[in-house]
Amino acid sequence: MNAEIVAIGSELLTPYFQDTNSLFLTEKLNEIGIEVAFKTLVGDNRRNLTQAAQTALGRAEIVVFMGGLGPTEDDLTRECVAEALGRELNRDPELIAALYKMFAERRRRMSPNNEKQAEVIEDAVILKNNFGTAPGQWLEAEYENRQRYIMLLPGPPYELKPIFEEQCLPRLRKHVPEMFLARRQLRIAMMAESECDARVSPIYKAAEGVDTTILATGGEIQLHMRARADTKEIAESRVEELAAKIEDELGDYVYSRGEPLEDVVGLLLQLKNSTLAVAESCTGGMLGSRLTQFSGSSRYFLGGAIVYSNELKTLFANVPPPLIEQHGAVSKEVAEALAVGVREECQATYGLAITGVAGPTGGTPEKPVGLVYHAVSDELGTEVVERRFPGDRERIRRFATQQALDMLRRKLINS
Ligand code: ATP
Ligand code: MG
Repeated sequence: MNAEIVAIGSELLTPYFQDTNSLFLTEKLNEIGIEVAFKTLVGDNRRNLTQAAQTALGRAEIVVFMGGLGPTEDDLTRECVAEALGRELNRDPELIAALYKMFAERRRRMSPNNEKQAEVIEDAVILKNNFGTAPGQWLEAEYENRQRYIMLLPGPPYELKPIFEEQCLPRLRKHVPEMFLARRQLRIAMMAESECDARVSPIYKAAEGVDTTILATGGEIQLHMRARADTKEIAESRVEELAAKIEDELGDYVYSRGEPLEDVVGLLLQLKNSTLAVAESCTGGMLGSRLTQFSGSSRYFLGGAIVYSNELKTLFANVPPPLIEQHGAVSKEVAEALAVGVREECQATYGLAITGVAGPTGGTPEKPVGLVYHAVSDELGTEVVERRFPGDRERIRRFATQQALDMLRRKLINS
């Protein structure tokens, strides 16, 4: 079955506010085998909202309206959905009484416009709201001779979520053939999206009954696989089979089935009873920040230094000043010296260093924006990788930390 989510509120059409409720709803609907075919955002405007309601009811079997259930003039959802359906709106006396009672309990006088929240579309079931004043509504109706399941939900997420989970999902399940959903995720580091897709798309396109989505951000690709089937076993075996085939194809580019790179590195360091120290120039602490996302990281992450100036590269990581003068702060030699220096200073098993030009200013023909050197060092030696990253400052810095973490990961799995 197909669904449409209609998010209502003029704030959703400004640059300041995001519709996040629909992400939650999509996840929950997907879990019971319902695809979201359309999402609509519409402002608090009678004509537009009625039109959006008619469009949605015309093309989706399940329509979830959210927001615009409050007491004010611009809360129009009830009226517009009723109008789109050609149904009456009735004030429910019990709801009115409940509203007065709720206000009395809070020692507040209720203004009469609140009674609007007691308006119920003809034949709708009232969905109790334990966290706010506006109740939701559930309605099974025909629209243009086709069966529709319709929900009206309040906008605040802490009101919408429990109503949807406790009162809408059980009702929907009765009308949707039972389906089981299985998911897998593969995470891939430092591979170009085009290369990854060229290698894996023949595999996932041939996989029957599995939907695959590729998500790529600076230095990271996530492959999300989903299968739906009549039994849990079939769904699980479909995603598992595909995930295994893709792992075979990509080898050690795949670093996890869900955990972020910094956690995988942390786990490997713990397994090897090893410790890590970092020296960062252009990433300004981002590497350290990522490494400490994981609770328990103190077991392997000793710390490090943000060595932005040349003086601190010498002071904290023992980089000889002539080396910097000769090769420049952004160089293979300095990256290497930083990794060795911070490892020795901190007495860590591994030293990890980043030095580069994050831009947008400061680039030169020899040392352009995006040029970054990464070094990983242990007592057996030091390895340096030079990269030229595209993008803005944030993206370059993100790439650099990803590259450094991936170098350490590869060193850990190969040693
Ligand atoms: P209320 O009874 O609280 O007035 P309502 O149904 O009228 O409920 P709105 O006034 O439309 O809801 O929205 C109230 C708040 O809920 C918004 O200010 C916003 O914080 C949040 N909200 C509304 N819609 C969304 C959405 N699509 N995603 C995330 N948050 C939302
Ligand atoms: Mg509103």
